[in-house]
Amino acid sequence: MAFVNANYLKLKAGYLFPEIARRVNQFLQSHPDVPLIRLGIGDVTEPLPAACRQAMIQAVEEMGDRATFKGYGPEQGYPWLREKIAAHDFQARGCDIDASEIFISDGSKCDTGNILDIFGDGNRIAVTDPVYPVYVDTNVMAGHTGEANERGEYAGLVYLPLTAENHFTATLPSEPVDLIYLCFPNNPTGAVATREHLQAWVDYARAHNAIIFFDAAYEAFITDPAIPHSIYEIPGARECAIEFRSFSKNAGFTGTRCAFTVVPKGLKGQTPSGEAVELWSLWQRRQSTKFNGVSYIVQRGAEAVYSEAGQAQVRELVAFYMENARLIREKLTQAGFAVYGGVNAPYVWLKTPQGTGSWDFFDKLLHTCYVVGTPGAGFGAAGEGYLRLSAFNSRENVVEAMNRVVAAFG
Ligand code: PLP
Repeated sequence: MAFVNANYLKLKAGYLFPEIARRVNQFLQSHPDVPLIRLGIGDVTEPLPAACRQAMIQAVEEMGDRATFKGYGPEQGYPWLREKIAAHDFQARGCDIDASEIFISDGSKCDTGNILDIFGDGNRIAVTDPVYPVYVDTNVMAGHTGEANERGEYAGLVYLPLTAENHFTATLPSEPVDLIYLCFPNNPTGAVATREHLQAWVDYARAHNAIIFFDAAYEAFITDPAIPHSIYEIPGARECAIEFRSFSKNAGFTGTRCAFTVVPKGLKGQTPSGEAVELWSLWQRRQSTKFNGVSYIVQRGAEAVYSEAGQAQVRELVAFYMENARLIREKLTQAGFAVYGGVNAPYVWLKTPQGTGSWDFFDKLLHTCYVVGTPGAGFGAAGEGYLRLSAFNSRENVVEAMNRVVAAFG
């Protein structure tokens, strides 16, 4: 019999979303006609920007003509898309990032998991608590952890709590670590990191020869002009950080799939014998070997995000969700809740009432308001006592959900 990757058996059986589904289904069985509103999932609801659709339609037509048909493209993405990204998302913000350092992919979920392919075993790895679960589970799968304890924490990982006291931005670890996952604007807390905070992380990483994995999937939702959109806005970040970006949330590409990873040239890791190796070359090799690129049609759709019309439409889309976030914050505050996030991120992180745990409050919201949230405890032990509400929904649903919350709790 073939041997399996037994690390998979250490995974806590995908507890969060299946458990939410189980509770919702059970409730619906006894209350089949309730007008349920789901503010739990982080998926977008509004249609693709017209500029992206038109570019993709045009690309489909090109695929129908021998003269313009495209077969396999470059594994790292077409140069015209990489160049637009480098110019618009980085150089225009003063970041020294070249098109050759942008690797186009079909999602940040895959990239944040796949990046571990180019790192060895034995790294000390830090994650925040609460956390986007992919960072943890992919390390479990790769055999970088021991078993989980009763709090759901894996042996071998360094957990950095995100709390109201540290404004939901991780405090630097007291012990040295080699790999650090940071996500700002943060999923699930909606917090952002200031320039000073990110500078402290970059200084820490350089002092310890550590690598920061910076997930900026929600950068488009930053409204405060003082908050950096990219880690490369911080001096020294080229020497210590890999950044992940996605078109999923800014341009509604969750079902269309396009993202990119930035690996600066000159960024290095080491072999077991201490020889320095460039990570760019390893990621280039990894992508060329295991990935055949994103579809031409989708890359043309992503390129259209950078057109004048595309930029205006993306701004409108983001503003629409942020108005939802503002409404959620306003109504929750009116109902007496302490709320965080929702100003520079599409997630609102609400403190559950004293003595009511995340899951109990989830049940209460479901049973009294017919509203589905995401229990904070599902993102990590430090998320206990919080619940995440997502601004990704129609205005009508958000208004109705919040009216119900104010009526029940206000
Ligand atoms: N990173 C974070 C923090 C996310 O919340 C998500 C999706 O919800 C992703 C990455 C995944 O993005 P993609 O759709 O590009 O795979």
